[in-house]
Amino acid sequence: MVKCTGKSVLKGIAIGKIYVYRKKEFTLVRTQIANVDDEIKRFELAVEAAEKQLETLYQEALETVGEKEAKIFEVHGMMLEDEGYLEDIKAMIRDKCNAEYAVKEVGDNYSQMFAAMDNEYMRARSVDILDISNKVINILAGVGDDSIKSDEPVILLADDLTPSETISMDKDKVLAFVTVHGSANSHTAILARSLNLPSLVNTDVALLDEYQGKMAIVDGFSDEFVINPPEDVLEDLTQKRDKWVEEAEKLKKLIGQDNVTTDGRRVNVYCNIGGVDDVERVIQADGGGIGLFRSEFLYLGRDTCPTEEEQFESYKAVLEKMEGKKVIIRTLDIGADKKADYLGLEPEENPAMGYRAIRICLGQPDIFRTQLRAIYRASAYGTAAIMFPMIISVDEIKKIKAIVEEVKQELREENIPMGEVELGIMIETPAAAIISDQLAKEVEFFSIGTNDLTQYTLAIDRQNQKLESICDTHHTAILRLIQMTVENGHKENAWVGICGELASDTKLTKTFVDMGIDELSVSPTYVLQLRKTIREI
Ligand code: PEP
Ligand code: MG
Repeated sequence: MVKCTGKSVLKGIAIGKIYVYRKKEFTLVRTQIANVDDEIKRFELAVEAAEKQLETLYQEALETVGEKEAKIFEVHGMMLEDEGYLEDIKAMIRDKCNAEYAVKEVGDNYSQMFAAMDNEYMRARSVDILDISNKVINILAGVGDDSIKSDEPVILLADDLTPSETISMDKDKVLAFVTVHGSANSHTAILARSLNLPSLVNTDVALLDEYQGKMAIVDGFSDEFVINPPEDVLEDLTQKRDKWVEEAEKLKKLIGQDNVTTDGRRVNVYCNIGGVDDVERVIQADGGGIGLFRSEFLYLGRDTCPTEEEQFESYKAVLEKMEGKKVIIRTLDIGADKKADYLGLEPEENPAMGYRAIRICLGQPDIFRTQLRAIYRASAYGTAAIMFPMIISVDEIKKIKAIVEEVKQELREENIPMGEVELGIMIETPAAAIISDQLAKEVEFFSIGTNDLTQYTLAIDRQNQKLESICDTHHTAILRLIQMTVENGHKENAWVGICGELASDTKLTKTFVDMGIDELSVSPTYVLQLRKTIREI
């Protein structure tokens, strides 16, 4: 037995086999090659190997899912034989460019060309081109495929996981994450929580190949990760897990009940989601609405920006599934730990305080307009609200409102139906909390993002695992900023909620209710526990 300790991101227990996850670690840069013929030969061999992989995939798919689904691998094989594509790559190699870079460059160009076509079928090929190019690049660079190869759900053991890796994973195959690095406030941890995965970060475990397939237990109550547990430990922890499941079952009695204190104060309990797939968990947990739809997750784990149509479909699906309950869509909050390479953002010394969120949207308004168009088009299908992240000034809100008005006018001229959409902002910088009296005059609601508000107030990088022990989330400075925001919001008739992780901290529920908070938005996992706490106040 090996016992390791980590930092739990969700109180729960998972028992299963370990899957050691290794990343595809290489940086794609252009280099000057010495011998053109050798490089072309290397490229041709990689294409042959990719074709063989595709044949195998075709056969596997044919046997497991049928001919129709298998067809895609045949199409990929045909695309790999396209003379124009192959010749363009070879032309770049003749220009002394390394094969990996040439494939990436030509693949991206072809993909963009397909994406701009009128024909829907051809447009869809844009992703396929990227797929086959990546296959060839991986073979050239000698790295493997990082998808989870296991028939049963596993405990994923990794060095660290980025939010885009987490979002691209097959969630049905994961019971829990255990990572060597990472902090409990990172977006990967937040994702684990919203997926109800009892995971550990910052764990003192080695990433050994010999752990592959070994039985293990993640205990989110004691922060322990046990590899190869003996019979008695396995039995004890199985009982503990069953008790956890039983407690969660008991909470289900509260489904359909009000979030109301004994003296009649009502608080909305909403949910945080990252995409359409999470809505099912919101409905099961009886969430009253969606208080934070982290729309940037639609932009992660892919090679191009989601189109207006793709976004519209996602927002519409969430709104329809929520059947008229409020859905607050937060506009793109990319940057810091959430990276999308295709946006071409330059590396920064201090990305948490850098070009991120609303700063990108106001700096690259085309991206912003596309998203706003998609949200307003979807607003006809439910009760949508929009909130803007990382606000620090009234001026930003004025600029945002001007763009919003232009987008709405454009849609009106196109006769596109729209619903009433509430506009709000996140209060997640100390600046916003301090001038919340001025900001409240401009918006209909505030949603306090305690994750960022904490890191900026305490000057503690939320990603830095070394600082977690001194990160006091109940710090008086933070509580005073929350109180000030609630008071200032109410003076101007703006409602005020909290959508950071602190909203689910039941040790503070009474404090928030006393402050007059109107809404708490949490992972679906916490809705019923929070309802129980509110009802006992
Ligand atoms: C926050 O900062 O509290 C928040 C809810 O946003 P995110 O965690 O996505 O930065
Ligand atoms: Mg934030």
